[in-house]
Amino acid sequence: MFPDLVDKPLRWLLRVTPNDRVPAHSGIAWAFTTALIWRCGGSALAQGWGVGYGVHLLCDALNASLNRGRVYWLWPFKRYRYHVGPVGLASSLRDFGWRSLLIEGSLSLLGLVSLVTRTARKHYDYRECQ
Ligand SMILES: [Zn+2]
Repeated sequence: MFPDLVDKPLRWLLRVTPNDRVPAHSGIAWAFTTALIWRCGGSALAQGWGVGYGVHLLCDALNASLNRGRVYWLWPFKRYRYHVGPVGLASSLRDFGWRSLLIEGSLSLLGLVSLVTRTARKHYDYRECQ
């Protein structure tokens, strides 16, 4: 959620960016925040952060291939013609088709199942040690 929590308010509320997918929907933001998390929180946390962030960007890139908009991977190092995208949640939802919502819903469900099974396995392993 981090990229959306940064970029959407910057565009939708403050109107200080040209698009609702910069600056946090970029490769530099992904790499920088993952390195920062690694430094402050350790490698396990950074791996989770990096994977989650990367999957978010990949899903947005997939959506961009199915709908309007795009991910600006090389921002600010490359000049882009920005998609004049949504300016709020309602107009953002109109940018997504049913295929995108189905894919994102499936990935979210897969992540939730993975979280629950991993948590249950850790709990089971912990009880086995006692
Ligand atoms: Zn996003």
